[in-house]
Amino acid sequence: MEYKVPSGTRDIVAPEVYLWQDVEAKARRIAGQAGYSEIRTPVFENTELFVRSIGEESEVVQKQMYTFQTLGGETLTLRPEITAPVMRAYLQHSMHKTGAFRKLYYLGPSFRYERAQKGRWRQFSQFGIEGIGSSDPLLDIETIVVGWDILSECGVPGLKLLLNSIGCPGCRPAYREALRKYVDLRKDKLCNDCKRRAEGNILRILDCKNENCKNVMKDVPKIPDFLCENCSAHFEKVREGVQRHIPEWEHDPHLVRGLDYYTQTVYEFVAGELGAQNAVGGGGRYDLLIEELGGPQTPSVGFALGLDRIVLSIESAGTEPAVTVPDVFIVSVSDELRTEVQRIVVELRRLSITADMDYEGRSVKAQFRAANKSGATFVAVLGPDEAAKSAINLKNLSTGVQEQIPQKELAERIGGYLTSLK
Ligand code: AMP
Repeated sequence: MEYKVPSGTRDIVAPEVYLWQDVEAKARRIAGQAGYSEIRTPVFENTELFVRSIGEESEVVQKQMYTFQTLGGETLTLRPEITAPVMRAYLQHSMHKTGAFRKLYYLGPSFRYERAQKGRWRQFSQFGIEGIGSSDPLLDIETIVVGWDILSECGVPGLKLLLNSIGCPGCRPAYREALRKYVDLRKDKLCNDCKRRAEGNILRILDCKNENCKNVMKDVPKIPDFLCENCSAHFEKVREGVQRHIPEWEHDPHLVRGLDYYTQTVYEFVAGELGAQNAVGGGGRYDLLIEELGGPQTPSVGFALGLDRIVLSIESAGTEPAVTVPDVFIVSVSDELRTEVQRIVVELRRLSITADMDYEGRSVKAQFRAANKSGATFVAVLGPDEAAKSAINLKNLSTGVQEQIPQKELAERIGGYLTSLK
């Protein structure tokens, strides 16, 4: 039996993993600088949390959840997204009592049983921020700017923001009615999924990726024409901020989000070179979510970025991963000296020098080849003569300078040269 990863999942190894680490570090830094602190929640939750928050009729709940029964009889679900778990934690730990306003970020895997293809996986990683407890449109703008800055600093090519408002429970019924009239006249032309959506959350039809449905829906009434005064004013403020801070953006009057809990502002970040799966992130305001979960009224806004797609887009744009190379590779001239070589390697590492040695019993010549191949800055060689007098031969592979030095000067010599390069 040959074991393989389950369909829709992957192993991520070097050099690709260096791109991941770089993206993750940038996301953490930029969110941290904006005052968001990390929250880590379990990868599974009670199924009801997702049914309640994402919506019974949503694609995610209907078709995409990994739900299982535990031996103890609980029904749990691998999280298909991370906003609901964060809100669950916010309520469970009474964060609303200890100062309602919170800024949190998360990073980790989400799981959806999707039709796997390039850019669409069954396990994928999300980085997201949540500003919880404020209806200030400046907070919507802050989240958009943080998302934009992460994506542009990562080098996502052809980055663009799509922005819309989907109103509130006050103004949405009028729009839904107009939409229903439009759809009723054309229902037989829509795909089966959209026919089902027409009976449930009809707004979802606007999110259908089917080319035919897009065409049928192209003259549909626009949500912004139906916004109430409050939602209109909020949207205007957000637009002004976006205009100030975001170089590439567009008002997309048909933009809705796949999850039920959004109100007012919705947005999506799209990348240039990803074809159909071009959404690298999405977000918006969800003023009713915490109430839906049994908490007090707590207006909130946030986004989730898809790290897999970010990495895919920067890879396709030719971004080279920054590979870690050893500062020094130590060659052992004889088998007996390998223990001594390891002692030196351990000491150097404890002094923050990246050192490595051979673990495959290779000949001296092959060890030199390995040193060169590793891209090490220095190669050091330990033979019996040097060992006898606690010395070592050190060669700088970029300058070619070679000398015998006392072992105790090794760290200083290597460290000094590396500092001089900076
Ligand atoms: P959503 O919660 O659907 O708005 O997703 C937020 C972001 O997560 C999307 O913009 C994608 O970048 C990413 N994403 C969602 N589903 C997947 C998936 N199946 N595979 C890879 N990335 C995904």
